[in-house]
Amino acid sequence: SYDKWEINPSELTFMKELGSGQFGVVRLGKWRAQHQVASKTIREGAMSEEDFIEEAKIMMNLSHLNLVQLYGVCTQQKPIYLVTEFMELGCLLNYLRQRRGTLGSQDLLGICHDVSQGMQHLEQNGFIHRDLAARNCLVNSSLVVKVSDFGMTRYVLDDQYWSSSGAKFPVKWSAPEVFNFCKYSSKSDVWSFGVLMWEVFTEGKMPFEHNQNHEVVMMHHEDVLDGGKN
Ligand code: ADP
Repeated sequence: SYDKWEINPSELTFMKELGSGQFGVVRLGKWRAQHQVASKTIREGAMSEEDFIEEAKIMMNLSHLNLVQLYGVCTQQKPIYLVTEFMELGCLLNYLRQRRGTLGSQDLLGICHDVSQGMQHLEQNGFIHRDLAARNCLVNSSLVVKVSDFGMTRYVLDDQYWSSSGAKFPVKWSAPEVFNFCKYSSKSDVWSFGVLMWEVFTEGKMPFEHNQNHEVVMMHHEDVLDGGKN
């Protein structure tokens, strides 16, 4: 018998590969031969699985038009995987870059509005995203933008991700209290949303493109020392 968040893997068929990320490969699949879904394999050793499975039960109850829906998990075998809503047009960052020069300001504002609605729902449910960025939003065939990967960074087992001086830590999207004290909140999500709006209106540019992470941290410190003078 299966708990309600468990999906029976025999009801899933896998089709093509969609991409790969921090945790492993993402594939297009079909559930009960009918519904298109995305399945995300969790590479062994990439995630603290027990903690995540507990959290998945909460994430399944987060439903909103602008949040990528988690349908369930397959945890009775290794590697485990997550089953989510399929987003035909892929990640927002690539979407913006591929359509440079073709999106009007109303389109760009609409993208920001979609993301803000999804984030509002997270905040109302006391859920902190911790890694909001254009690379963690997805676009579907109706051009609806949805926020993905919420809360997932807590389960990453990779020092490069965790240490704020590590290469994978999203310093350029982080509020100062996050890279200084790991103080995450809905307010630090709002900071990341500001950077995301910048990504949208530059049609997918890299923030601080000529600076490395440690230089961005330095720039913040200089701001604090200069406080009031400039
Ligand atoms: P990460 O764990 O690094 O955040 P992603 O979730 O971004 O990995 O997945 C990697 C890639 O797989 C994405 O850039 C996107 O192209 C594709 N992908 C991920 N989830 C979906 C989905 N639900 N629908 C369609 N494509 C997806």
